[in-house]
Amino acid sequence: MNQSFRKKRYAIDNYVDGILSGNRIMLSRSITLIESKLAADNELENAIIQKILPFTGASIRIGISGIPGAGKSTFIEAFGNHLTAAGRKVAVLTIDPSSQQTRGSILGDKTRMEQLSNNPNAFVRPSSSGATPGGVHSKTRESILLCEAAGFDVIIVETIGVGQNEITVGSMVDFFILLLIAGAGDELQGIKRGIVEVADAIVVNKADGDNLAKAALAKMEYQNALHLLATNTNGWQPLVTTCSALNGEGIHGVWELVCQFEEQMKSNGFFEKQRGEQNISWMHDIITMRIQNLFYQNPSIKQSLDTLEDSVVTAQTTAAAAADRLMRIFTDSAER
Ligand code: GDP
Repeated sequence: MNQSFRKKRYAIDNYVDGILSGNRIMLSRSITLIESKLAADNELENAIIQKILPFTGASIRIGISGIPGAGKSTFIEAFGNHLTAAGRKVAVLTIDPSSQQTRGSILGDKTRMEQLSNNPNAFVRPSSSGATPGGVHSKTRESILLCEAAGFDVIIVETIGVGQNEITVGSMVDFFILLLIAGAGDELQGIKRGIVEVADAIVVNKADGDNLAKAALAKMEYQNALHLLATNTNGWQPLVTTCSALNGEGIHGVWELVCQFEEQMKSNGFFEKQRGEQNISWMHDIITMRIQNLFYQNPSIKQSLDTLEDSVVTAQTTAAAAADRLMRIFTDSAER
């Protein structure tokens, strides 16, 4: 019907071979495909993921979060360029600023991570975050796998710190960095909202010029606060460090922390354990999403939903009774 309007699609092997040979155009197209909401693309997506799966996993996955203006894109650019200079291949899954709805954003029209985007050993992929402003895309996990299959061995996932995003991104990366600035307010930066509890490292950025002393003080305060928290079950005590994304000071120190973490987690078995647990929660997320789709796309449900919503609005039916009725309609139609 609408086939003529559909974006061009290739055969599965074109995507798979392209990804495995590190062809970034095909990598980009594959990410676009898996982000597509078209049901027709679902099958193709699953087939691609299945085929590339044996070539995934061999990277360190790093999440980076912080409020707008904390210096995330400047940091990722400095960090990424530092790592490629050391021979690593870096993929960055980032937020498309044009899709950003976070008020007070100072991103403007500036091209983010311009240098890194042009770095032959880096791949920067901005995605719109969909329903959650500044959050991770619902297909970030799949995108991580595609980048790994394309040969990237450091994967960076950026989010804007507004709360739930950190928890979500924490469930798909190995190491989570909270990027802070001195004097921006603990409440605003999520310090008092349990976000530090998912952080493996706190990095106080903009430790330069007049800000140097303030950053050092902030580091001490966060360090003291973190000591009050129990050591994570994986045996890792979250660390605090300072850096200047602008002049590069302290960037290598952040990477050393990541390496230290990776070494420790690999030797105590928590690295694989955490990835295994993340795969289980991924599976459950997919099941929930699929069941929801099946339910709301079911013709009998579509037919009854409006009427039942109306009777809930007018209090003729309770929400629970309406939900029960819909579930019955769904199971009856599934049995037919
Ligand atoms: P994002 O919104 O978190 O991605 O922040 P940006 O990377 O866009 O940085 C916001 C502003 O802070 C920009 O004007 C940067 O030049 C500046 N900035 C970022 N990192 C540093 C730093 O280490 N030192 C100083 N002095 N400024 C920085």
